[in-house]
Amino acid sequence: MPDDPREHHQRPSAQGSRIDPYVGAYAERAKGMVASEVRALFAVASRPEVVSLAGGMPNVGALPLEQIGEIVRQVAVEQGGTALQYGSAQGDPALREQICDVMAMEGIDASADDLIVTVGSQQALDLVTRVFIDPGDVVLAEAPTYVTAINTFAAFQADIVHVTMDDDGVVPEALEESLANLAAAGRRVKFFYTVPTFQNPAGVTLTTERRRRVLEICDRYGLLVLEDNPYGLLRYEGERVRALRADSPGNVIYLGSFSKTFSPGFRIGWALAPPAVRAKLVLAAESAMLSHSSFNQQVVGRYLATYPWQEQIKDFTEMYRARRDAMLSSLEAQMPAGSSWTRPQGGFFVWLTLPEGLDAKAMLPRAVNERVAYVPGTGFYSGDHGHRNMRLSFCYPTPEQIREGVRRLVGVIEGELSL
Ligand code: PMP
Repeated sequence: MPDDPREHHQRPSAQGSRIDPYVGAYAERAKGMVASEVRALFAVASRPEVVSLAGGMPNVGALPLEQIGEIVRQVAVEQGGTALQYGSAQGDPALREQICDVMAMEGIDASADDLIVTVGSQQALDLVTRVFIDPGDVVLAEAPTYVTAINTFAAFQADIVHVTMDDDGVVPEALEESLANLAAAGRRVKFFYTVPTFQNPAGVTLTTERRRRVLEICDRYGLLVLEDNPYGLLRYEGERVRALRADSPGNVIYLGSFSKTFSPGFRIGWALAPPAVRAKLVLAAESAMLSHSSFNQQVVGRYLATYPWQEQIKDFTEMYRARRDAMLSSLEAQMPAGSSWTRPQGGFFVWLTLPEGLDAKAMLPRAVNERVAYVPGTGFYSGDHGHRNMRLSFCYPTPEQIREGVRRLVGVIEGELSL
């Protein structure tokens, strides 16, 4: 499910027919690719009168559009010879050097050779899954986890096994227990997928102590870690944590992205991997896309070289902090007893647990009627879990809209409780 609810407006095909003549022809792996049931509701939720706490869209309106326009012009006029040409599947070498500087902010010491530029970190997820997963292989993931990662793993017919997570991130003992059980059952576990910092959807961050233990456990089992970190630089309080990759270069594949710290529109993300893995990823990328957009890479490269991008991240941080504070204080003031929620130190999301007996998915049509939308928790699990949960995002609406959205949401919850 895309994070942008506005993506859900879909017209019927040109023929207007809903019967698919190729229904028997699809590959096994495509059979699970079905649109989620809440899509139709999100189409309604994109109406202006609805406060959407559903989408995870960064607030690109805060970007310096004039300057970006000028950078785009300069790239076309001054660098057109290469920017308008094919590039390499590994990505622009100059941009890869700049990405190393970005990763240094999270303690990572990397060489540009070990990096591949991808179409958002989403493509990196796809490429890693493509080169590692055979049908039936196990992928470990936090419970809950990023919905589109679940879809990607499922598309390659992985078995997703969730590992318990709490307010301090994944629980190391639970990870160890899963690995022991899976080893005893003779299952092939290919990697542990984790969003350790400001997790999507839960908003929680793995503590420093747990980072050490998670790496130690994975190292002992010879298990690859797939660290997905698109939000790490958007911290609103507390001490910065080191990326897992910073302390374990040999068995972590690290995914990064400019989608949240600059713009998702250029679709620039990356994967940093051990050399042999990186070589496989480049070959997989060649067959997926030949080469990345040279133009987009050079625009992002020029932005990083000529614009005070770290100041821009500070501006984003201040804006999102005010939005997070509006959400947390509204929840604190209004949520009925029996509900609980996470208190993210960064990122975009709060994970809310409803009072006993309520079901977030069943409640969604009522909420949309009351002009507020959220994402039900069930989408963030591969099995049937998360009924009492919802993801609330505070990145896109203004603080006033967030306060109003929470007010409406509380009205809906109280209505359900009185039924
Ligand atoms: N991973 C996580 C955890 C995300 O939240 C997102 C965006 N919603 C992505 C990966 C993909 O981001 P992009 O492809 O824009 O880099």
